[in-house]
Amino acid sequence: MNTEIYLDSNATSVVLPAALAAASDAMGQRFGNPSSTHSTGLKAKVILDEARACAVRLLGVGNGRLMFNSGATEGIQTAVLSALCALRERRDAGEAIGTLLVYGTTEHKAVPESLAHWNRLLGLNLTLHKLPVDGNGVHQLAALREVASQAAMVCTMAANNETGVISDLAGIEAVLGETASRALWMVDCVQALGKLKLDLSSTRIDYAPFSGHKLHAPKGIGMLYVRAGVPFTPLIMGGGQEAGQRSGTENMAGIAALGVVLAALERGDTFRTEAELYSFRTRLADALRAALPGVVFNNSFEHALPTTLNFAVPGLSSRELMDVFDAAGVRVSAGSACSSSKAAPSYVLDAMGLPLWRSAGAIRMSFGPLVDEATIAAACVRIERCGAALRASCLIPSERSAGTYDGLLQLGVEGACSWLVLDAASHRCVVIDPLPDHVARIEAYVRCQNYQVRAVVCTQPNAGRTEMVEALGRHFNRAADADEYGWPLNAVAMPLENGVAASVIKLGAQVLASVRCDAAGEPRAYLLGTPDAACLPAAAVRFAFSARPLQQALSGITTARTLLCPTRDEHNQFCASMGTAPSATLAADLQLDGAALATFLQTHPNARLVDVREQYEFAATVAPSPAGKVALSVPLSRLAEHASTWLHDDAAPLVFFCRSGNRSMKAAQCLRRLGHPQAYSLNGGLALAT
Ligand code: PLP
Repeated sequence: MNTEIYLDSNATSVVLPAALAAASDAMGQRFGNPSSTHSTGLKAKVILDEARACAVRLLGVGNGRLMFNSGATEGIQTAVLSALCALRERRDAGEAIGTLLVYGTTEHKAVPESLAHWNRLLGLNLTLHKLPVDGNGVHQLAALREVASQAAMVCTMAANNETGVISDLAGIEAVLGETASRALWMVDCVQALGKLKLDLSSTRIDYAPFSGHKLHAPKGIGMLYVRAGVPFTPLIMGGGQEAGQRSGTENMAGIAALGVVLAALERGDTFRTEAELYSFRTRLADALRAALPGVVFNNSFEHALPTTLNFAVPGLSSRELMDVFDAAGVRVSAGSACSSSKAAPSYVLDAMGLPLWRSAGAIRMSFGPLVDEATIAAACVRIERCGAALRASCLIPSERSAGTYDGLLQLGVEGACSWLVLDAASHRCVVIDPLPDHVARIEAYVRCQNYQVRAVVCTQPNAGRTEMVEALGRHFNRAADADEYGWPLNAVAMPLENGVAASVIKLGAQVLASVRCDAAGEPRAYLLGTPDAACLPAAAVRFAFSARPLQQALSGITTARTLLCPTRDEHNQFCASMGTAPSATLAADLQLDGAALATFLQTHPNARLVDVREQYEFAATVAPSPAGKVALSVPLSRLAEHASTWLHDDAAPLVFFCRSGNRSMKAAQCLRRLGHPQAYSLNGGLALAT
């Protein structure tokens, strides 16, 4: 089964099969060097000449230059270097030049970085100036009009890579004309190739870089157009290839492949029509609206290429969306740079003035003109699958009642975490140390599962819990009195081991006990366990919650089997042991690779395969389990609870896995630290195993 649906074509695209064959031919049968004058060389030169002739016709190069290079980043360097060298020469000759290097705020980073780099290296000291875009992501022409006469160079992309927003190139050209601007004008055409009609020599565009891998050719091949008569300086000097414009033996496999793609574009018989691409976007957008209530599109469809959708969903981070799509085999990308837990906002969406949640939570879904109907239909089914998985996990509102959560839930963010103690039978729960970042998520769980929150408690006195309490609405009795830790005053007294006094609240068969502190203002711990008739003996305490290890305070009222659940977790330990601390050095055999897994499972038939991805990822998954063995779903947020069972009641070997091997590594480390002798992590995760 092909489980992968690739919808990330703005990042890179699948190579057209005929292009692959042409690349292979250029490395096999026609492997010659096009500069050689013998027959082998001449056969290779034909490939080069045909590809260039096709590009010249297709892009309307006219009398301009069209050179092959390694890709758009190189094309951008060459254009910027050419323009800036010419500007320096003019200035050195006493000519007045513009003072500004103007670039669109939403340009690919290659543009401002190249401008800054060459401006510095050439000692020009011009000022980099950002050209703002409007709410639709389109350059503000009025702002350009204000600076056009002072601009030495203007850089404006043809279409944006994150949003697909199409620039008003005719409008920009008109402004440059009206203001009699002498600026050299570069248009990054990477995302426009094959999607927008280009007739370069009929425009005022001076430089236009292209990249093959964005349009079904391989990586490492690109082109640069330079208008006839416009300044040009080679970036790379050497053997004089490409008419001396770009030295170095040509990437013939890449050129052959790109040539095939360009020829297909010219013939018009290989790629989907514009109308088909628009209808595909409509279908994907409808599927997203149906599956993800509240979804908002960050790009105005009216202003964008039909092949790019950019969206955000209230209450969901781009990390969560990426993970659920990836589990469903749909490859998309975060609209912004995504770190481990928090996504950085996208500078493109920020420039459009979008609120932070849309910018930081953005997902880009993009397809190429080679996409077919069956892929779009399959993608729509998978999108629905993602929606169902998120609804079942209470991450998006649902009419249907999701399976009820029971036990412990740990929500973590950057070294700190909140805990939920849930009892499904009585529908009661307690929230411990709710962090502001988790308030919305906890409220959603509680509401979606119709829990009654018995208490919202903190391990520090007067810690902020108001936001949580207010968010809970009818699910929490705010009128009940509580102390400065949020502990209800109507909790009943129950002694702990050795008659130590405590008060408890009941959660089904279990109780949560508040351990008295010796002095006012001290951090407090909470114990969870199943009491006997009149007391909560140390041996019955399974979990102790506290901000930091309170081993001393807890000794005598807990045992070595009690797991310590921290609300501060800088080292991603999830939970610690009350027993003797195991050695900090971690076993070298912690990781199993895909090949070793099958053997391991054969020699350890009782081993458990544990999927530590979130429940919504597990539910959305289409790929088979590693080694074909049924896996148990225990997200990291539920690890502490299961760790307690695995350590004391079930000694079977554990093989954790996740998407890439990161989360499973943390789980295996945690279990080893707690003293489990046979906890392993599947190296490379599902990405490599399936
Ligand atoms: N410009 C735009 C708009 C792009 O999307 C990209 C690639 O993401 C580049 C430039 C850089 O292209 P290349 O990968 O060919 O260097």
